[in-house]
Amino acid sequence: MYDIIIVGAGPAGMTAAIYGLRANKRVLILEAKAYGGQIVNASKVENYPGIESISGFDFATNLYNQVIKLGGEIKYETVVKVDEHSVITTSNTYETKAIILAVGVKNRKLNLDREIELTGKGVSYCATCDGNFYKGKDVAVIGGGNTALEDAIYLADLANHVYLIHRGDSFRADQKYQDELSSKSNIECIMNANVSKLNGENVLESIDLDNGKNIEVSGLFIAIGQQPNNAIFSNVADIDENGYIISKDGVHTNKEHVYVAGDARKKELRQLVTAESDGAIAAVMAIKES
Ligand code: NAP
Repeated sequence: MYDIIIVGAGPAGMTAAIYGLRANKRVLILEAKAYGGQIVNASKVENYPGIESISGFDFATNLYNQVIKLGGEIKYETVVKVDEHSVITTSNTYETKAIILAVGVKNRKLNLDREIELTGKGVSYCATCDGNFYKGKDVAVIGGGNTALEDAIYLADLANHVYLIHRGDSFRADQKYQDELSSKSNIECIMNANVSKLNGENVLESIDLDNGKNIEVSGLFIAIGQQPNNAIFSNVADIDENGYIISKDGVHTNKEHVYVAGDARKKELRQLVTAESDGAIAAVMAIKES
């Protein structure tokens, strides 16, 4: 029997683990893929109080090392069901006194024909992971938020030419990124346009836009935000119309021993610092009960 099982090894989950472990609790983190969550995709984090600048990967790795040094246990298993005191994965069932859901959000897809087939063959959702494959080539980034602009700026130093394609007529990204964008001579902004078709035999070769243009690119980086994926938790948590978990008093779900922390929760501000804050609060509550 564990004291606390945390689902998800992103910043919220790993922070919860640090608090639980420091209180001498038996803690297990279950993670489907790799530690770090969305933050590993950020080339630079510069809004985390106390750290002037750090790569998202280094930040996540520091957190991971902290968890491991404290004796934390991470198992790479996909959770398929959660009950009040048990967590079921594709290979095991674990009993626990408290559960913290820190499952984050998933990258939003354009939902184009062949988008899944061409993922890894030109289509990517992570510029910092895959940008290096496109050195000296032409690429496109889709989106108008902080991630899209950050990706375009990052790729401009690697690729030959970067098309930044946005469906609106202005970017919602912070002014800082917009200013940086204009200093890069190889970024070309295409506004009021959507990708309508992906072309290429076995790998991506070009994209069609709904304004009638065709653009030859080897890489397409889709940076159009995130969406939650919480349907499997509907037996222990209320979920809002957008798919986010509704919490009471910050991090409580509608089951006494089940908490939610980080981006999966319905909240005002989804940032590193608020994810970690949720993780700490959820852990302190779980510690009292376990
Ligand atoms: P976001 O802020 O939600 O922006 C998503 C962008 O994609 C928007 O421009 C949106 O267009 C566009 N979009 C959404 N669906 C689309 C579709 N189907 N087709 C075409 N375009 C579509 O997402 P994000 O940039 O990933 O940022 C997520 C959060 O992380 C934000 O709170 C952001 O501030 C934060 N973040 C922070 C940093 C940092 O501080 N260093 C870096 C990255 C992200 P519209 O504008 O027309 O809706």
